[in-house]
Amino acid sequence: MIGLAYQALYRTYRPSGFEEMAGQKHIVKTLENAIKQNKIGHAYLFCGPRGTGKTTVARILAKAVNCESDNRPCNECESCQAIQNGTHPDIIEIDAASNNGVDDVRDLIEKVKFAPTMGKYKIYIIDEVHMMSTSGFNALLKTLEEPPEYVIFILATTDPQKVLPTIISRCQRFDFGKINQEEIIKRIKDVLDQEHIESDEESIQLISSLADGGMRDALSILDQCIAFSPDKLDSDVINEIYGITTVDEKINLLRYVKEKDTINLLKLYRKYITQGIDIKRFSNDLIDLLKEAIIYKRTDGEGYNFINPKDKLSVLANDFEERTCFRLISLLLETNEKLRFASNASAYFELCLLQMTNDEEEKIVVKEVVRENVKPIIQLTPKAEVKKAKFEALDMEFVLGLLVQGKKPEREAVSASFRRLPDYYLDDKFRMAAKWLSNTSVVACDADSFILVSCGYATEADLINDESHKEAIVRLMKELLGSERNVYAVSEEYRNRIISEFKFRSSNGTLPAPTKVEVMRIAEKVVVDNSMEVEEKLKAICGEIFEIEEE
Ligand SMILES: [Zn+2]
Repeated sequence: MIGLAYQALYRTYRPSGFEEMAGQKHIVKTLENAIKQNKIGHAYLFCGPRGTGKTTVARILAKAVNCESDNRPCNECESCQAIQNGTHPDIIEIDAASNNGVDDVRDLIEKVKFAPTMGKYKIYIIDEVHMMSTSGFNALLKTLEEPPEYVIFILATTDPQKVLPTIISRCQRFDFGKINQEEIIKRIKDVLDQEHIESDEESIQLISSLADGGMRDALSILDQCIAFSPDKLDSDVINEIYGITTVDEKINLLRYVKEKDTINLLKLYRKYITQGIDIKRFSNDLIDLLKEAIIYKRTDGEGYNFINPKDKLSVLANDFEERTCFRLISLLLETNEKLRFASNASAYFELCLLQMTNDEEEKIVVKEVVRENVKPIIQLTPKAEVKKAKFEALDMEFVLGLLVQGKKPEREAVSASFRRLPDYYLDDKFRMAAKWLSNTSVVACDADSFILVSCGYATEADLINDESHKEAIVRLMKELLGSERNVYAVSEEYRNRIISEFKFRSSNGTLPAPTKVEVMRIAEKVVVDNSMEVEEKLKAICGEIFEIEEE
């Protein structure tokens, strides 16, 4: 471990052949068959989350096609060795994320006309291809139309939706999934054995769950823990570095839930928050724990690969009825879904814990609404009402039809006016609409009918597009800009897709006709605000929170 040339674990233990790959079995098998039958394609697109093996498979494939032996890749011949050491002249690796905006990529791709010097194939591995500069993309497209016999492109991306459809259609696409926890655990154990490091089940489980399906992340986390405590992998160390809780601590928390000991439950939870736990992860861990408790009950702990330690599960299985486990899981799942766009996740999760102590079957969906200044309040909405509101992303043709009418000076003027939105936070008539629009940026608008904005998340865009919010928003526009405008919203991710589609279709002249916008006209009327009533309801249901906070 110690030495001048320390190499990260994920590099040291990177698979050198297909048989060592963790997960992605269908991809490995397909590629192995293609190699055996000499049916290699000219362009591959590897899609999937980070650390799931895309560039590793790309390198193994590069080795296999250029290998001089029968058993490909052999990892011994000159070619295999050169690729292993990163010195093979015909393997060109490009990280588009760091080469973006320069012409290097284009130059490299244009060198495709020179035949390979050492091997049979010249192989381009382009990582994060969606981030490549426009000139690079054009060079790539041109080459992909008529690739020379000796060239293979392996494109990798974490975000296939940003890759031009014209590129995708020329590639064989493989989708890399997250690696399952058991395979990650197996790999971590192998590495620990080879590095002669002591460990326990809980630590390994913790790392594998932190890695969230990424093998590279798993080994990087392991690296960091070992740097902190070189001889022994210790769950306390991991908890400290990553701000997470042990299985015992989670079981204690669930016990308070069961005993309806609200004071201790909230005290313990506040302690975790002070330690900086990741709430989403905490919530997922509780779900896994409860799920395994159910399985433990049904199987008596036999014949199933548990992620959590069996002795702990047996305690939990004894304490909790199956029905209760299911009820808690369903509450946690419901909360998880909404944590993503809650502005104060810890207060939100606290409410979930309070609901967990309430064993009545009647369920209330908690919907967070941000109110005056910074303090969030909670609005309680009957479940049926939330279900009724159906949200859908705006149709691509509809949005393109808006974009073709966009006017730049208007956009700048509206953007400037949007900076005054916080002025309306204290005004009951406009507060909610101002909040919905507060984190948006103006994508396009015309002189008098529409404004298209983008938001970080699709859920935020949904709030703006919701038909029942339309009047409030148009009313605010009238106040802010002096005329009624319809506001349409898209998520940032969708905006990027729309913009590449717009560029593509504008280059080949296939943009749609302008979308007709019928502006809503506002008749003056009084807006009733019921936030006081909501606050009263909230206090009646969970008064404890307020009392504890005031200590
Ligand atoms: Zn070889």
